[in-house]
Amino acid sequence: MPQSNLHLQRVFSDAFRQLDRGHRRFRLDIGDIEVKFYPYAGLHHTIRVRAGRVYVRLSDLLQTAPPEVLRALAFLLVARLLSRKTPRDQERIYRSYVFSPQVLRASDIARRQRGRKVISTANGQVYDLERIFSRLNRRYFAGEIEKPVLTWSKRRARSILGHHDAAHDTITISKALDSREVPEWFVEYILFHEMLHIKHPARIINGRRYYHTAAFRAEEQRFGRYRKAQEWLDRVVRQGRELRARAA
Ligand SMILES: [Zn+2]
Repeated sequence: MPQSNLHLQRVFSDAFRQLDRGHRRFRLDIGDIEVKFYPYAGLHHTIRVRAGRVYVRLSDLLQTAPPEVLRALAFLLVARLLSRKTPRDQERIYRSYVFSPQVLRASDIARRQRGRKVISTANGQVYDLERIFSRLNRRYFAGEIEKPVLTWSKRRARSILGHHDAAHDTITISKALDSREVPEWFVEYILFHEMLHIKHPARIINGRRYYHTAAFRAEEQRFGRYRKAQEWLDRVVRQGRELRARAA
């Protein structure tokens, strides 16, 4: 591996120092950052925070990328984690590399050979679920919800706006919400509800499964615009519009 892990830890630590300046949202030592390459099916990378440690997984397709590309990627990921704007020059460096013919071809081959479902549908036409997830995770869960597979539904489901599938560790959000007509806080609310399903697993009482326990409902009200979200659901339902009020 051309990039030593320590080198990558430094690169990420540097990105945090520059992007988190003044705010000090994270106090990180180099040892608090773990960077690993992972054989994702495509060019996919993740970054998450858990108990004060940062875990980064980079597509192994970038294992041989030049140092400046990995540095640019570090800025992209850290900016996403902090909900900051990505520095333009870094974005350009990263994009021009990953959209080069060799990398596109390598990613194509990996996708076919690894034969897995590509997790690229988290980024919708309007909203990026990964970004919203990170923000909610930080704001409401101290970063402690393990990131599931996040995906927009293939079809514009109208009856169920969100769904958490524990067996497949997947949250699916109806594509009907990936629209400019839907306010971002409403998408946040639906995703927040599904994240609570991860935190509060279903309880089985007398052979029946209870998903929305009292603890679940109490915590759901911590959502900043909880009332507004409920009103919005009600109004939409009353108007008989296509979005229906159910987050399963
Ligand atoms: Zn639910």
